[in-house]
Amino acid sequence: MASNTVTPSDEELRATAISLKGDNPSFGVARLRALLLQENSSWTVSEGRLKKILQSEGLINNQQQQSSIQSAEIYPSSRLVEDLDIERWSSLVEVKYFDKRKGKGLVAKEKIASGETIWKEDPFILAPEWELYDMQQLSRVCAHCTTPLGESALIVRCPASTSTAYCPVRFCTRLCLSRAQRTHPLNCIAQNPASAPLLAFARKNNWLGLHALAQCTARLLLDAQSDDQRLLEDDWKIVSSLAVLGMEERAKGIWFGGSEPDRPTWKKAHKLYLHAFDVPMTPAEQKKLARFVKKQLPPHIHQALFPYEEFLRGLGRMSLNLEGHGGLYTLHSHLNHDCDPNVSVRHFDQRTALSRITLVARRDIEPGEELMVTYVDPNMNVRGRRNKLGAWNFGTCKCKRCLEEEKTEKAGGQGSMKDKDMEDLEKELKAGLGVS
Ligand SMILES: [Zn+2]
Ligand SMILES: [Zn+2]
Ligand SMILES: [Zn+2]
Repeated sequence: MASNTVTPSDEELRATAISLKGDNPSFGVARLRALLLQENSSWTVSEGRLKKILQSEGLINNQQQQSSIQSAEIYPSSRLVEDLDIERWSSLVEVKYFDKRKGKGLVAKEKIASGETIWKEDPFILAPEWELYDMQQLSRVCAHCTTPLGESALIVRCPASTSTAYCPVRFCTRLCLSRAQRTHPLNCIAQNPASAPLLAFARKNNWLGLHALAQCTARLLLDAQSDDQRLLEDDWKIVSSLAVLGMEERAKGIWFGGSEPDRPTWKKAHKLYLHAFDVPMTPAEQKKLARFVKKQLPPHIHQALFPYEEFLRGLGRMSLNLEGHGGLYTLHSHLNHDCDPNVSVRHFDQRTALSRITLVARRDIEPGEELMVTYVDPNMNVRGRRNKLGAWNFGTCKCKRCLEEEKTEKAGGQGSMKDKDMEDLEKELKAGLGVS
């Protein structure tokens, strides 16, 4: 009699694989698979499938297996972007891979003086805060760089807009219009009407991560149309190397201030996402999308974007890496957190390029020292900061400031750091794109 075999779902397989790897950190794929099939005798799982799942969790890499993982702890995983050209932004820093737990970061290559500009960076994609997004839709700020639009003669409308398919957005210059061609066509109501319900849904739910994923997907799909294959290759390296924490993994932690949607909302969003970029609902919409997407994404990228599980991971990837005002910045996304950071992120170019960030040294930084920014409001006390970070599974912050305040708190003190420095930092976090 033939035995009944079942194929476990990705979710089941993922959970089992993570726990087995945690118990047997030195095991490779083959031994893990043997163990897995021994414990789940009815399962059929190919070595390739298991390997893919372990890789996507960052538990093994392509060349060699990680020697160990800290079991039972879930934290964001990230990879290095191969051949990322840092010099494009700055000759003062380099990328360093610390370890599995901490991932990557940036360190100073030479001494950086307090107040010095370390680099400036335009966003890879921008999903601006909703206030600004609304202003884009009212054509009051540039649809590409979010700079406020005055009466300048340089301003241009979306050229695809017609009286029957009206796209309301405007760009501050032809340069912005041309740069926006990397993403706008597929998020333009006139050019890809199938994207409108997705963006409206993101707006209604105040879901920046979903909007960011729509922007990223548009960029990748449009890259694939170019004759220059490197565009897609390079962009995909950047996206797939971003630190990631799946939505399900995050759901196991604390919700981020109650602002994250629930599972039925994820499902609905996924449907709209597929309609927007993969298979639109109506033949008319399909025809419009097909006008842009003549070449499909390579299967490995398609498979890493559109299945539900991957979609959730994509959302987690966006939420985790967006800068406070909604931009996703390639080099900035390498920075780790410290509650008393040595680098601040500023939006200086408010009149010409609002979405551009400038990274400034807050104090002297020595060669080899890691550059750090704060992910949370530094004005909160140690418990508040750790709670916020905990919601993102960053683990308990053990920075110098946290350890000191922990001691003071235990000793019954106030642990207050409300000095001039902290006030400045607080102001800076609120300043910038439209928030004051
Ligand atoms: Zn602009
Ligand atoms: Zn448009
Ligand atoms: Zn800390």
